[in-house]
Amino acid sequence: MRHLVLILGDQLDRRSAALDGFDPTCDAIWMAEVAEEATHVWSHKARIAIFLSAMRHFRDWLRQQGYTVHYHALDDPANGGSFATELARAIRTHQPQKLIVVEPGEYRVQQSLLQTARELGAPLEVRPDRHFLIPLDEFRQHAAARKQLRLEFFYREMRQRTGILMDGKQPIGGAWNFDAENRQTFGKQGAGLVPQPVRFMPDAITQEVIRLVEARFPNHPGSLRDFDWAVTPEDAERALDDFIENRLPLFGPYQDAMWTGEPYLYHSRLSSAINLKLLDPRVAIQKAVDAYHQKHAPLQSVEGFVRQLLGWREYIRGVYWLYMPEYLERNALHADANLPDFYWTGETDMNCLRETIGQTLRYGFAHHIQRLMVTGLYALLLGVQPKQVHAWYLAIYVDAVEWVELPNVYGMSQFADGGLMASKPYIASGKYLQRMSNYCAGCRYRPARAVGEDACPFTTLYWDFLMRHERLLENHPRLAQQVRNLRRLSEADRAAIRAHAAKLSATENP
Ligand SMILES: Cc1cc2nc3c(=O)[nH]c(=O)nc-3n(C[C@H](O)[C@H](O)[C@H](O)COP(=O)(O)OP(=O)(O)OC[C@H]3O[C@@H](n4cnc5c(N)ncnc54)[C@H](O)[C@@H]3O)c2cc1C
Ligand code: SF4
Repeated sequence: MRHLVLILGDQLDRRSAALDGFDPTCDAIWMAEVAEEATHVWSHKARIAIFLSAMRHFRDWLRQQGYTVHYHALDDPANGGSFATELARAIRTHQPQKLIVVEPGEYRVQQSLLQTARELGAPLEVRPDRHFLIPLDEFRQHAAARKQLRLEFFYREMRQRTGILMDGKQPIGGAWNFDAENRQTFGKQGAGLVPQPVRFMPDAITQEVIRLVEARFPNHPGSLRDFDWAVTPEDAERALDDFIENRLPLFGPYQDAMWTGEPYLYHSRLSSAINLKLLDPRVAIQKAVDAYHQKHAPLQSVEGFVRQLLGWREYIRGVYWLYMPEYLERNALHADANLPDFYWTGETDMNCLRETIGQTLRYGFAHHIQRLMVTGLYALLLGVQPKQVHAWYLAIYVDAVEWVELPNVYGMSQFADGGLMASKPYIASGKYLQRMSNYCAGCRYRPARAVGEDACPFTTLYWDFLMRHERLLENHPRLAQQVRNLRRLSEADRAAIRAHAAKLSATENP
């Protein structure tokens, strides 16, 4: 064998650089399903199923195109269960002159790959991941030229560099972002009839995978009953078209809103397909921009969507590779509490958390503001150890891959990196959730109260957080007002809040 081309579970890109120059007479492809990927964090069943199903569909497509694929299935009795054992087995069997792979998305996998290739003396060629819009070395140059990394500067550079939503040198519409217009709530009339996203009913391959996951990982969290995720590029393209047609126009205004029983609202629900590389972000961006030019969607929605893909997604990846593996050890706020057990069951009286976690267990999905301002915010205010928060987020979402999950958790949600990635900790009391959702109306707690039987735990912990980190936050320009509000509290109020917060921290299940 000349080349053994390795395709990892999140590299299901039909235009992958790994396939360049492939010669079917002397090259072959290697793909492996390994139990380690489902168990190194306690993965949601839907997360395991989406990877396996998408991989099997990709394998079949490759074979239809005439590629030889050596596929190590999870239920193959010879499967050793880890990436390293399976790769070593393949190298020994096929004795390739060279291994070819596209840059892995995860540091742990990259290290395992490098080590295995080295130990077995197999030359390894690592090719760039063309799926991303900015190569990693160019992100490094961007970072090297700045004292501080910030999304806004990076995003503007990306707009200028790609010409997306640009009118010459100026941003279309005269502003770089319309964030301030993306915070509408549904108000008393409610969310109304939200167009439901297109669903993909499990075909024979997915059904087989579902049976396998149920049999092999029966105790893992989450359900497979509602599994309807895109698992092929054709599904992903349909999901994109459905979003552009039906939900993009209101994506912008309601980006930060939450509503009971509405897991997707106007979000695209495309993250898993994009992360698996079933859908090219350039295609998603282009179709959104076309919708703006065709007057189908307003600029505030299209710019908001473009900012997530062209800005946040690329920025997050750059931050991950710039700081790993040291990033994983950060804990700037010295948070040391344990993650409450209810994160794995949804059994809590706090309605916002019950809704968000319940929906997460059912679908393997929560939208951005639920992740940031419900589950993320509670862990931040409670002071949960960042590694535990990270392990939960990596396990529980169908779109979770470490390069995107970790900086979102450490940088955006938990402020564990001390402000390296985002400018401030996203903190708020229960009143924020009351404004942005209808969760509080169905809750036994009262969002405005910080102490007493019916005090909202978010509100108590919010004030307690400000007290615990008062010195750190007082000089922060964007948090000074919150610290000033704290200083209006009397000593007696402060003591009562502290006592109530201590009770909450000691209670496993408020
Ligand atoms: C604590 C926390 C953990 C997260 N973990 C993940 C994760 O494991 N995997 C993941 O893909 N996203 C993660 N995100 C980012 C974001 O929440 C999801 O990408 C989004 O909710 C997916 O839903 P959607 O496809 O409907 O996105 P939309 O709201 O429709 O956004 C469009 C697309 O933009 C991209 N995007 C949006 N926000 C971000 C962001 N902050 N970072 C990177 N890309 C973004 C996604 O590809 C998404 O599909 C996390 C956010 C937080 C706060
Ligand atoms: S009152 Fe507090 S705990 Fe209850 S839903 Fe509102 S924010 Fe969540």
